[in-house]
Order: sequence, then structure tokens, then C-alpha cells
Amino acid sequence: MSMSTLASPSSNPLPNPLATAKITLKKGKARPLWFGHPWVYANAVEKVDGTPEPGDIVSLLDTDGRFIGQGLWNVRSQIPVRLISRTDEAIDAAFFNRRIQQAVARRKAIGLPNANTNVYRLVNSEGDDLPGLVVDVYGDSVAVQITTIGIWMRRSAVFDALEAALGPKTIFQVGAGSYGDLEGFASNAEIARGVSRISVSCQEDGIKLEVEPLAGQKTGMFIDQRPTRQRVGQLAKGRRVLDCYAYAGGFALQAARGGATEITAVDSSPRAVARIEAHAAANGANIRAIEADAFRFLQTATPGAYDLVVVDPPKFAKARKDLEAARKGYERLNTLALRTCAPGAIFISCSCSQNVSADDLERVVAAAAKAAGRNLCVLDRLGPGADHPLPLAFSEGQYLKVLVSYVD
Ligand code: SAH
Repeated sequence: MSMSTLASPSSNPLPNPLATAKITLKKGKARPLWFGHPWVYANAVEKVDGTPEPGDIVSLLDTDGRFIGQGLWNVRSQIPVRLISRTDEAIDAAFFNRRIQQAVARRKAIGLPNANTNVYRLVNSEGDDLPGLVVDVYGDSVAVQITTIGIWMRRSAVFDALEAALGPKTIFQVGAGSYGDLEGFASNAEIARGVSRISVSCQEDGIKLEVEPLAGQKTGMFIDQRPTRQRVGQLAKGRRVLDCYAYAGGFALQAARGGATEITAVDSSPRAVARIEAHAAANGANIRAIEADAFRFLQTATPGAYDLVVVDPPKFAKARKDLEAARKGYERLNTLALRTCAPGAIFISCSCSQNVSADDLERVVAAAAKAAGRNLCVLDRLGPGADHPLPLAFSEGQYLKVLVSYVD
């Protein structure tokens, strides 16, 4: 080996794989963590032994000095420790290989991927014991979103592990957005590894999709809504369908396949509308795609014009303090949407605000039904698909709520 090779530093060295500091919790604060909860809030920390830097691995102890696990440290965050391991294993390259293999095995157990579906979530952050890492598979490629500095510092090991497990043609790295500011790192949307390109072809339940991970929302698609899309497909036969906040037309495309007589998809983003049209053409579906604000569209829609209505708005409550305004917004939206429902319609109302609970959504829909003078019964309560696992007793992770109702 030449001197220059010896001297050349690795471009992206893995940080110390072993804990450098010990974090002790206050009395009474360890209980949720013993039961599977992965987060330590700032007010639960009793003392810090050592001088950990943001992103370092720390050992977590209860007030009696018992070892709970190892976590990613970030003093800047409201959640200074996120558990990444319940043992004292080294958090090194081999660790990331094991974690990614564990994620692959979990998806295999639920039949993903399969002959008809090659878009799915492979890593769901805390749910796959990798806090701050989301990996979505789109056909032959993956899109990665990193939202903690601890994973960010170890991203080359994550990319290596993904290459070893899946051999993706492209690894897209989606920007961290406001998470980067909160955690103290800057990440750009870019091609991290492999072939440079804009979009990837993939399919969900045999429906052909084209996804742009670096230009779209989330990692390019709302993979979490698969169970709702499937339910729409099952219920659509013979119905006039309205898909509000349609994005790339996920519900509309399933409705077309399910035998809807007429389909309208509304989104305010011109890019989304163009994508709906392209998806409709690729799948031989007849969808009327409309670029409009959903509230405005609903205000002028003919009452009773639809037999299946879906509303899947973006987050109305970004923080706890927005909750009241968000409730009002959801109630108004649901009231307007219910007015467009014909007697005997299916009404599907979604909320992806983590601060709005399933109970909140149900109360909002009840209030909207009263305001619209309609009688509803609940057929189904849905949420993210099984490729979005969560730790036990981790209510913070339950953001997506879907209520399926029958309208008399
Ligand atoms: N139903 C989609 C996901 C919807 S995400 C799916 O299953 O894939 C929310 C969508 O709402 C985004 O596409 C965004 O462009 C759109 N949107 C945001 N504000 C809007 C508004 N005021 N009116 C209509 N669409 C809006």
C-alpha cells in the first residue's frame, strides 16, 4: 500500500460506533422506554456524564443506573435521545446491514414486494429501529429521507447497506427540509448514488406509476395511503367518484380500475394535475383532472353530484397550537364535501396531522354531518399500510387517520 493511500482520509468516515457518554433519566421517566417507547424528552433527562456532540451515540440509563439502550444524541432537539438499540452492540457498518436486512425481512413477511406492487416503505424510522431514516422503494430505485443528525453523519453506511441488500439503480436523497434546521444539518435533494435521472417507473397493485422523488412531495408519493386506495378500488363500482387533494391520482386510478362510472380529481398543484393526466393515459383510465383549490371547487360543486367522495388534505395542524384552527378547517372542508354526496354515497375523510387524533377526526366529521344535515355511519377506520410499522405504545407515530362512512 502506498503512503498516499495510507494518508488519504475517508471522505465520509463513520463516527465513533460506541457510546461516548451516559444519559441518566429522572425517576419515573424510564417506564415508557422499558415498554418500547423510543424517545426521551428534554424534561426527562436527569444528568449527562461526558460531553456528547450532536449525533453521537449515548448510553441511556434509568435513575438506578440500569442500562436501557443506546440512542442518538442531539442537545438541540426537544427529543435529545432517540433509541437506536436495546443492546450494547457497536453502531457500525455491520449494524446498519443488520437493520436493513431486518427491514427487508419484515416487508417480505407482509408480501412486499410482489408481482403487482414494487413501491413500498422499506424503513419507517422508529418503527424499524432507525430513528430519522425513511427509505421508500420505487421499482429498481430507493428514495431516502434523513431527519436526524445521527443518521445523517452515518449516511454512507446506510447507503452501503442499501446497496448490499437491494442493489438499487439509483439512491435518491430527498431534502430534510425543516428537520435539517431543527437538527443542525443541511441536506440537499440530490442523487446520492447510482444512475442520475428524474423519475422512476413502478407499480402499485398493477397500476403503472411514474414517481419523481426529488421533485415530488414526501419522497415522491404518499405510499402510506395504500390501504385507503385499495378500499376505494373495492367500493368504486358504478359510482361517480370525487378525489379531492388528489396529488398524482392514487385514489382516482384505483376507482377507475374498480369500475367507477365517472371520476373527477382535484388538486391545486399544476404539477400534480399533469401527473394525474399522465397516469390516467398510462393506465387507460378516464379521469377529469382539475387544477383548483379544493374548498373553492367544493363550494361551487353541484350538491349530491357524487357517490364516493375522498378528501385527503395536507396537514392542517403543524403544531399543537394550530389544533383549534385545524379542527375548524377540517369541519368546514368535511361539511362542504358532504354536501356533494348523493344519498347512499361513501364518504372517506383523511387527516395526516399528528396533532389531530382519531377521536378528533371522528368528532369533526360528526360536527360536519350535523352542519350539512346528513346522517352518517362509520364503515371502517383505516391508517397507514403494514409497511409503516411502529414501536408499541408510540402514539406520536400515529399521524394518518382515515374514516370511511356511509351517507344516508
Ligand atoms: N391523496 C393523495 C395524497 C394527497 S396529499 C394520494 O393518495 O396520493 C395533499 C395534496 O393536496 C397535495 O397533492 C397538494 O398539492 C394538494 N393541495 C394542497 N393544498 C390544496 C388546496 N388548497 N386545494 C387542493 N389541493 C391542495
